[in-house]
Parts: sequence; structure tokens; C-alpha cells
Amino acid sequence: TMHAPSSTLQAYLERLLRRFADLDGGRVATYIPELAKADPRRFAIVLATVDGQLYEVGDARLPFTLQSISKPLVYGAALQDRGPERVARAIGVEPSGDAFNSISLEPGSGRPRNPMINAGAIAAAALLQGDDGEARLARLLDALSAYAGRPLEIDAAVFESERTTGHRNRAIGHMLRNYGIVSDDPEPALELYFKQCSVRVDCRDLALMAATLANGGVHPQTGVRAVAAEHIGPILSVMTTCGMYDFSGEWVYRVGLPAKSGVGGGIMAVLPGQLGIGVYSPALDERGNSVRGVAVCEALSRDLGLHFLQPP
Ligand code: GLN
Repeated sequence: TMHAPSSTLQAYLERLLRRFADLDGGRVATYIPELAKADPRRFAIVLATVDGQLYEVGDARLPFTLQSISKPLVYGAALQDRGPERVARAIGVEPSGDAFNSISLEPGSGRPRNPMINAGAIAAAALLQGDDGEARLARLLDALSAYAGRPLEIDAAVFESERTTGHRNRAIGHMLRNYGIVSDDPEPALELYFKQCSVRVDCRDLALMAATLANGGVHPQTGVRAVAAEHIGPILSVMTTCGMYDFSGEWVYRVGLPAKSGVGGGIMAVLPGQLGIGVYSPALDERGNSVRGVAVCEALSRDLGLHFLQPP
């Protein structure tokens, strides 16, 4: 639980931003050319409470791409569209301990180990409901927009960059096709996956997405339901065990909040029933997690007593 009056909370976040603005480790992602253009000095922290209060500091309105932070939300949409049994036949829930872009399919079944690695995310995208590509894209954008509480759009330059360089993801798509996890040509699912990664957000959106998860699936400001309440437990579970890639165990130990990072430099973290956290800083560590983002969440958890397994 969180204890701090709001004026002190705002001042605390300003201090936190100044304190970690000097933390200069890591590098912006370069494996997708368009991501290499990010400015490593940009930095934002936003908290959103389940009653709709926002506390923002730094570059909270600066756009960047959602990248892997889309994964738990699209997994939720797949659960909603196909039901847990169908989804479980396609995607496991076991942490892989491997990098986000590892092939990492279960031997035998060919099922991706979890929905937070690319293989599982591509399988989840393939499960979205819609009669054609256009309808599935609309389903994707509607789902993500409901979490943000505003209409989100795709960054065309990042999408183009993802698509033209995404050979490893394409290889994963064909492995999924080989095992029958996706039933047809994997290209439409890959296209959708590249699009979900290229959705443009700002740090405030991340905090509100996290707060929507914290609030049982209902956006705290618009009151619109983004996902059925029954899928919140499953979504937060895979975020807890797999959300920070091969840093997930260390993350739970140090921070103790379900979270998801993306190579765009964002992290969203959730304190169920209470608040959502968004952090943006594009310099990444070797695992693809924002360096300042991890440091900020660790400090927030310690200072405000947010670890979900630690009694106050
Ligand atoms: N677009 C990235 C990829 O699939 C997303 C991965 C991420 O944020 N880790 O390569």
C-alpha cells in the first residue's frame, strides 16, 4: 500500500527525477534503425491512481513507441477474444529466462513459453478476432486505446523500420507456423505484431494503462472497460513472472510489482487496487530494460513501500 499526501508526492517525484537524471548507463536500442534516433537525456515519471489522479514529472508528453509493453495488453485481448483454453493451447505461462527475441518454444508442442517473449506475443497477435487484417488492426488499436483512454496511432516510420529489419521475428513466425501454433501464412500476424510495437504513446499513457490494470480493467478517468476483470489476474501474473525478460526474478525481488518494459525505453508497473507507474528513459541495459526506469521503480518501491509481498 501507498502512504504519502499528494503535494509531497509531487515534490518527491521531482526529487526522484533529478536524482536519476545523472544516471547515464546504457544505450538506446539500435537494432531497429528508427529507435536509434531516441535522445537518451529524455526522462519522465508518471503515477496514476485508480481514482484518476495523475502526478507527472519530466518529459511526460514526449512520444515514443510502446514496443513490448503492448504484449500483456494484446495477450489480454486474445484471452478476451478466444477464451483462456484456446489461448493456453497456443501460449504457455512459464518464464523462459531467455532474451525477449529468443526462439524459445517448448520442445514437442512448439508452444511459446510465455506471452512476454516475441514468440508468445506473435502467437497472441495471431489470436485476435477479426474477419480480415483491417478488422484485426482495428481490434488491436481499440484495445490499446481503451487502456490509454485516448485514440492511439501507429508511428509509420518505426513500423517501416520494424518490418524491414524484422528477420528474426519472421523466423519465429515461421517456426510458429511449422508447429501449427499459427495456422496460415505467419506474415499477417507478424504485421500486426510490428504494428502493436509501433504504437505511439507517452509516459502518461503508460501510467494510465498501468492504472487501468490496477483498477480491474476499467480506465480510471474515462470509466471505459478495456478488458474483462477475469483476465486481470492472468495478465498481471505473466507480467510478474516474465515482464522484464531475463531480469524478471531480480525485478520481483527488488521491486515487487507486475511490470512490462519495452525497447522504446518505457516501463509500466502496476500496484493492484492502487496505482499505475509509467517511466520513460530510452537508454537500455543489456537485457533491453530502461536503465533509469529500473532504478526509478526500485526507488519508488522502497520509498513508498510498494513491494506486493512486503507487509508495510
Ligand atoms: N519491436 C521489438 C522486437 O520485436 C519489440 C521488442 C521489445 O520491446 N523488447 O524486436
